[in-house]
Amino acid sequence: MDKTPESFTCRNCSADVKVKAFVKNLKVCPECDAHYPMSAHERLNLLVDKDSFQETDVNLYSIDALEFPEYPEKLERDIAKTGLRSEMLSGIAEVGGYSTAIAIGDVGFIGGTCGAVIGEKVTRCIEHAGKNSLPLVIVSVSGGMRMQEGTLALMQMAKTAAACAEYAKNGGFYISIVTDPTFGGATASYTSLGDVIVAEPGARIGFAGPLAVASLQEELPENFQKAESLVAHGFIDHIVHRTRMRKLLIDLLSFVD
Ligand SMILES: [Zn+2]
Repeated sequence: MDKTPESFTCRNCSADVKVKAFVKNLKVCPECDAHYPMSAHERLNLLVDKDSFQETDVNLYSIDALEFPEYPEKLERDIAKTGLRSEMLSGIAEVGGYSTAIAIGDVGFIGGTCGAVIGEKVTRCIEHAGKNSLPLVIVSVSGGMRMQEGTLALMQMAKTAAACAEYAKNGGFYISIVTDPTFGGATASYTSLGDVIVAEPGARIGFAGPLAVASLQEELPENFQKAESLVAHGFIDHIVHRTRMRKLLIDLLSFVD
């Protein structure tokens, strides 16, 4: 069996990064501050009060409705890899003592792509927040809509967007946290419909991925589809370092309490 490596080369600055220091630093490169993906459970531990999370919709999980080649095997592989039953954690938690509906994606589960289960979990989470007059936090990470679920995945965009609109109409407060990478239908629906939209530094956020865009346009602007560029153009409101994300959430939740 391979030994777990003690260090790796940072993909951003090429520094030799010690794994222990990296994990202690919340999976942020200690040399260049590059934010690497976290699992849904790691984010949950980072953001919510200890032992306060009550998971909902635990029995929702993806099925291979279209009999797409190798999809069941990929689902099984990623269930084993992530320890999640489905690709999103959702439920109720306390954040700084404020009761909050929360949903968190996991990029380790079929690239965080959005299928029927994420759409349904996001929608139920929003509706639960609305019915119980709770604020809402969604942490997005998405490789786009899930091709293995075809139209069943695409329709989640309309469903989640409609739930966001209803929640907003009834005075709900939605904080959208966007992490690297967030692409495709998630960006075009619930991710972009927060009252406050915050991103981690360097997060790649867009609709079509950079390779698809580059095939249509020779030169891409600097920082194309990066959080820093999107803040400058008003698409997101604020960039927040991972170490300060919980504090920001508590500050924002205190405004609407
Ligand atoms: Zn680095």
